Amino acid sequence: MAIQQDITKARLLGVLILITLLVLLLQYFGPQKTLVLGVDAGARIETIDDRNNGGSSIATLTRDGERYILDCEIVASSYAWPYCEISFILTSDATRRGIDLSSFTEVELHIHYSKPQDFGIRFQLVNFNQAYAKAEDTNSQKYNAIELYDTHIRYPQRIELSHMQVPTWWLSQGKIPPDYWGPEFDDVRGVQIATGERVTPGKYQMIIEHVEFRGKYISDHQLLLILVSAWTALGLIYFFTTLHKAKLELHNHQQKQQQLESLNRLLNQEQQKLEERLARDPLTGVLNREGLAPIFQQQAQGQATLLSLIFIDIDHFKKINDHYGHNVGDQVLLIFAQALSGNTREHDSLARWGGEEFVLACPDTPLDNALGLAEKLRRCIEECEWPKGMKVTASFGVAQQMENESPTDFIGRADKALYVAKAQGRNCVRSSQHAPAQLSVVG
Ligand code: GH3
Ligand code: MG
Ligand code: MG
Repeated sequence: MAIQQDITKARLLGVLILITLLVLLLQYFGPQKTLVLGVDAGARIETIDDRNNGGSSIATLTRDGERYILDCEIVASSYAWPYCEISFILTSDATRRGIDLSSFTEVELHIHYSKPQDFGIRFQLVNFNQAYAKAEDTNSQKYNAIELYDTHIRYPQRIELSHMQVPTWWLSQGKIPPDYWGPEFDDVRGVQIATGERVTPGKYQMIIEHVEFRGKYISDHQLLLILVSAWTALGLIYFFTTLHKAKLELHNHQQKQQQLESLNRLLNQEQQKLEERLARDPLTGVLNREGLAPIFQQQAQGQATLLSLIFIDIDHFKKINDHYGHNVGDQVLLIFAQALSGNTREHDSLARWGGEEFVLACPDTPLDNALGLAEKLRRCIEECEWPKGMKVTASFGVAQQMENESPTDFIGRADKALYVAKAQGRNCVRSSQHAPAQLSVVG
């Protein structure tokens, strides 16, 4: 699942990188937006010459199919800068504004001279800005100009708009503040093509096919800003979603771990309960044979040095059962076990060995003390109050474990001592100080 997700993420990243590359390629090699000014542009055309400035040059414009022909007779006069000019007027009648050319980066001039020689071209974009210009006064509008000298002109002539300059005569004439000294193209109201400043008196002809502005649909700067913003946004989204997911996973993991821990605790408790139940006799609640096993294990591992056993068997219990019934017999067994455990020390362990036979294991207890305890218990049983006013007694066999004696032999000796107690009249305590073969009875 996680690998599948990683593959999807890698694919998505690949697609995004490809899209970015494609956008960059489109930006540099893709189609450009264009604006063509020519015969079909629909723009109003004006022909101007230096007669407006007191000169005598004569400009005449004719249309020849798909092109304009500007015939110009430059005449020497008192006016120092004779010229002829054709101007495309871009002011819209509806908005009273020009055209925003600020998103264009270059212009291509499809112009040539037919005769008599190439004398240069002045190309001007006249821009309006109410900060310094008046709508009715063309001279107050900013001239963004470039002078192409005869030696430079090619066909078609490409000009980068950033190379155009504002002539100083216009700046000083209008006392333009420095903030507006640079070229502006956001409200171009006229595109002017004129004879160059070095033109000499004579007859000239300029053939104007068209002027084509070109630009990118979106500037390099804007595109860079968009790409960087998009990648940053994607990076941030990825960062926050990954962080959020990691937090969720961590939370889930912790929850699962807590659940497992509590389940484990519960299982341990249940296991403990089960172990306790397995080690106990259900009728009397004291330990059973299995429950006594740890005592012998401790002994075998040398953790306890001294251990005495007291084997206890109810006398003539069969008669109790026979006379009063099995239920009363059970009751007697319960009271018997309670009486024994109520009169033993805390670290002694009482177990029901089977039927009406019990074993009391007494760690750290020498034989003499065990004998004293057995005698105390015997009397306690004898003097105890029993159901139906019956009389109950028990016989006791006591032994102390000898060095290197196996639990089986040790239990056998205690059992034998009990057998002796039974044989010698019951309701008494007997002990075994030696191995079964050399059994001696104290009483
Ligand atoms: P002795 O003095 O020689 O020990 O005689 P006794 O009758 O006590 O011994 P015996 O072994 O002949 O009888 C033991 C009886 O204990 C036999 C059996 O029915 C009874 N018994 C064993 N387990 C239980 C029990 O859980 N409940 C009841 N009510 N009786 C049991
Ligand atoms: Mg018995
Ligand atoms: Mg018995």
